[in-house]
Amino acid sequence: MSLIQDVISRVHEKETGQPEFLQAVQEVLTSLEPTAIKHPDFVKAKIYDRIVIPDRAILFRVPWVDDSGEVQINRGFRVQFNNAIGPYKGGLRFHNSVNLGIIKFLGFEQIFKNSLTTLPMGGAKGGADFDPKGKTDNEVMRFCQAFMRELYRHIGPNTDVPAGDIGVGGREIGFLYGYYLKIVNANNSVLTGKGLEYGGSLIRPEATGYGAVYFAAEMLATRGQQIDSKSAAVSGSGNVAQYTVEKLNQLGAKTITLSDSNGTIVDEAGIDTDKLEFVFELKNHRRGRISEYADKYKVPYYADKTVWEVIKEQNLKVDLAFPSAHENEIHKAEAEAMVKNGCYCISEGANMPSDLEAVQVFLDNHVLYGPGKAANAGGVAVSGLEMSQNAMRMSWSREEVDQKLQVIMKNIHASTLEASEEYGCKGNYVVGANIAGFLKVAKSMLAYGIV
Ligand code: NDP
Repeated sequence: MSLIQDVISRVHEKETGQPEFLQAVQEVLTSLEPTAIKHPDFVKAKIYDRIVIPDRAILFRVPWVDDSGEVQINRGFRVQFNNAIGPYKGGLRFHNSVNLGIIKFLGFEQIFKNSLTTLPMGGAKGGADFDPKGKTDNEVMRFCQAFMRELYRHIGPNTDVPAGDIGVGGREIGFLYGYYLKIVNANNSVLTGKGLEYGGSLIRPEATGYGAVYFAAEMLATRGQQIDSKSAAVSGSGNVAQYTVEKLNQLGAKTITLSDSNGTIVDEAGIDTDKLEFVFELKNHRRGRISEYADKYKVPYYADKTVWEVIKEQNLKVDLAFPSAHENEIHKAEAEAMVKNGCYCISEGANMPSDLEAVQVFLDNHVLYGPGKAANAGGVAVSGLEMSQNAMRMSWSREEVDQKLQVIMKNIHASTLEASEEYGCKGNYVVGANIAGFLKVAKSMLAYGIV
């Protein structure tokens, strides 16, 4: 058995009950095999064994009182995975499904993603098994305050800078930051994704979705193609999905799907700017369900189906796919149906939305497949730019930030492609992203000695 397979087996043995974390470790480490051959010093210093164990994982109780006066208790997490190249950085997820394994998978992925951006950011992730859906603003505020009551002691502008993720948008960041200010008495920009009025960056809400489209454009360019006039499937209808559709519209593509945890809509005429305005209002203000889109625009709605199941069952044809909801939403059968129906470019807005078998289908069929850690890195990249602006006590214009985002996505694409070529898998963005992200972190860990 190879050294890397040995490390993977040990993780399997020790970290039972964490399937998403095991999946992420298996995907990343398997593609790092060639680095172990080229860098015996990494092997000697046991970098591979060390990188799969977080620096620390914090688990805490979050007690709060709901509107009816009842005490509620949730579990809060912050996993500070690796700070070799910069302060810990990574979002907070509030969703029923959150557990230690999910936060570890996200934190582990974040190490390599943040490194790919070329900005000095380590990897971390956090969250709670609390779902803001169906809660009043006051309940969400009380929860956020209770969560920050513990989290504040573990974070800091040079230590750990959290941001948003599923279930944590502008409203939640406002409540979290407001309470941090109250108890720490330091307006030190310890979160990103802040409102523009109190230190946020222009383009941060748009960054992940825009970045995923910029990444797709780079992949298409390698085959002499562009986004214009392509058809696209987008899943989810939250932050990432919304701005993916906005950028696709701006670049002349037609998006025909959106979804939420209750079902999927298909609009063959395309989700144009007016319809997207309706989605913004529906999801960000009224916090309603995507089925209302189908009612309003008289288009098909598939209850309890994902976008990818609908593509398979209805034989929907799209050129491009932007999975933008959650992990493991695409399995082997759906991936096969996507390829069969002509989809040849997948740019992942979500983290690990394709399971290992689905990824293999994409690779075997030589479609352009941009894994999340490269394709969705635009979000954390602009978070990094928000940190820079805060540190300089100034702010850049919309155009400046968008320009920097485009350059960063272009560079991520180029370094990913280069690494894939250098390590003998030209055009395999999975191998390229993992290796390009890993090397900088591994070399830093090596320089620090055994710590
Ligand atoms: P949001 O909470 O804004 O939106 C999430 C969307 O996905 C919603 O439509 C939600 O539906 C749907 N969804 C979430 N969980 C499930 C589930 N278990 N089953 C079905 N549908 C689900 O989150 P974001 O848009 O911020 O995040 C989406 C993905 O992008 C995640 O994988 C996240 O980790 C990743 N990401 C986000 C970044 C960011 O900057 N926000 C940065 C990089 C990656 P419903 O409303 O019904 O819950």
